[in-house]
Amino acid sequence: MIRRLLIVNRGEIALRIVRAARELGLVSIVAHSDADVDTLAVHQADEAVCIGPAQAAKSYLNIPAVIEAARNCQADAVHPGYGFLSESPEFARAVKDAGLIFIGPDADIIDRMGDKAMARQTAIEAGVPVVPGSPHAVEGLEEALSVAEDVGYPLLIKAAAGGGGRGIRVAEDAEMLTKQLPLAKSEAQSAFGDGRVYLERFIARARHIEVQVLGDGKRAVHFFERECSLQRRRQKMFEEAPSPAIDSTIRKRLCESAVALAEHVGYLGAGTLEYLFDEKTGEFFFIEMNTRIQVEHPVTEMVTGFDLVRAMIQVAAGEPLSIAQNDITLRGWAIEMRINAEDPDHDFFPSLGTVKKLVWPTGPGVRIDSGLYEGYKMPPFYDSLVAKLIVWDDSREHALTRAGRALDEFQLQGFTTTAGLHRRLIEDSAVKAGAFDTVFLERWLAEPASNHANVKEVINEQ
Ligand code: ADP
Ligand code: ADP
Ligand code: MG
Repeated sequence: MIRRLLIVNRGEIALRIVRAARELGLVSIVAHSDADVDTLAVHQADEAVCIGPAQAAKSYLNIPAVIEAARNCQADAVHPGYGFLSESPEFARAVKDAGLIFIGPDADIIDRMGDKAMARQTAIEAGVPVVPGSPHAVEGLEEALSVAEDVGYPLLIKAAAGGGGRGIRVAEDAEMLTKQLPLAKSEAQSAFGDGRVYLERFIARARHIEVQVLGDGKRAVHFFERECSLQRRRQKMFEEAPSPAIDSTIRKRLCESAVALAEHVGYLGAGTLEYLFDEKTGEFFFIEMNTRIQVEHPVTEMVTGFDLVRAMIQVAAGEPLSIAQNDITLRGWAIEMRINAEDPDHDFFPSLGTVKKLVWPTGPGVRIDSGLYEGYKMPPFYDSLVAKLIVWDDSREHALTRAGRALDEFQLQGFTTTAGLHRRLIEDSAVKAGAFDTVFLERWLAEPASNHANVKEVINEQ
């Protein structure tokens, strides 16, 4: 039984979890840093507890401080959100050792699936195709060069513990691999505290398609796929569900492979299996699993009608899955636009300030997940994601039109965001046709603005 839920996160996801807790009749307690006293999540929660100073290392990443706070406020469960401690097996273990429920899979599963090199091995065992690459982490240069001969160039050197688009380097040939390997290893060591790297063939012209799963430890179901190919620096900017690139035959194979892998490890909780999809051949390859709720989960909620955050809390509390695969169907189309406090005209430089004026779009099929409010002062310490604008409609074409309508209603004064970029992006003919891959957005951003559709400016001023 869960009665008191400690939420160790900030921003829109902390608020999202507070909302799920309230609907479940749980007492929500937000654990926050000194810099986040005045956030909407803290205001909306039943209780709040400060876990340390602004720097994440001393608060949101501070395991002993979180465990102490959980004890002091008599929480019986801990939700880690995404980022921060959400994929830390040490944290999951510490929560369990303190006699509390971790809202997510067991530490052993995070160990196995959160480690990208190990997850590849597990996928192979479960019969899921992976990108050709090294069978496990590569040690010395000699081993890397010989593996690379089989894998083929260009290839990627990827940190086993990487995430958030960081810890990935390209090697075009043996010379570059020789140069990049030691750099990649020391970078991985300093960024993730784990210097292991592995090699993966670079799949050109791929689409990023991922499958949402939910397991209760015995059985797993999928909630279909999300298309997340529109990325900058390997970070998603715009996501949709379903994917415009796959038909029902491929959808079935892809989603069933995700369920097979989740069941193979006895997965408990919400999780996402990420794949690269080659449109020319119809092949898909597993790349990694995220053992947590993801930023873009709302598009899946919109097209399936299920509340994933509620469901992940229920399975963590020990409730068996109450739904069968056949209960989950796709309806309509959903799009998420990430509104980051960054200036797209100045190389996405972080933009900071106080919200002076804020008008959210509302009306049919519009959902906003955000911690912004008028008077809110953005702290400079954290991720730039400040809002997610999600729209739903009965078809992709209608959803794109609705996205434009919603952005036209939106008004923000105080700092620059990526809202205006999304307004132009959705008018692009390739985006309208659903014809893009993982490098499309970077190419599009490099074009002169005069190439792009002429649209009404989004009202978003400094
Ligand atoms: P999603 O698919 O949910 O967007 P991301 O991999 O982008 O997943 O991660 C979500 C959040 O967590 C982002 O804010 C990202 O910067 C952060 N994040 C994820 N993994 C790591 C990591 N290993 N190190 C630092 N930040 C991470
Ligand atoms: P992270 O843990 O940082 O999310 P991923 O392994 O999920 O890292 O890769 C992030 C992005 O990098 C993918 O969405 C894709 O755009 C690109 N990418 C990853 N692996 C490959 C690959 N083998 N070939 C081409 N692009 C890749
Ligand atoms: Mg990823």
